[in-house]
Amino acid sequence: MNKVLKILIVLNDLDEKLKIFRDEKYRELFSISNKMVSTWEKKREREFKKLPVEIQDNYERLRKRYGFGLASVTEGSCNNCNQKLPTYIFAIKDPNKELNICPSCGIYLIL
Ligand SMILES: [Zn+2]
Repeated sequence: MNKVLKILIVLNDLDEKLKIFRDEKYRELFSISNKMVSTWEKKREREFKKLPVEIQDNYERLRKRYGFGLASVTEGSCNNCNQKLPTYIFAIKDPNKELNICPSCGIYLIL
């Protein structure tokens, strides 16, 4: 698997977790302390710094626009914009070896 894609998957998970942590009711219900949240934030920062700078900028831009920077694929369509992806993406033996971007919305894809 592509090295950058691997980091993006971890980062996406951490960002989703931190998004849930922003909910005060959730934190109360599951006894999530501020210390725990800051531990996750630090973990997130460490992963983020592993990305090449241009990918960092793009990922943050996508998160601002769509709420996340990485999307999966269902039945050949991007799960962010729902557009059908070009077939050449799937013609490759190991499509996740490359970092793929949806031609319609620009989000990073996990195939
Ligand atoms: Zn898309």
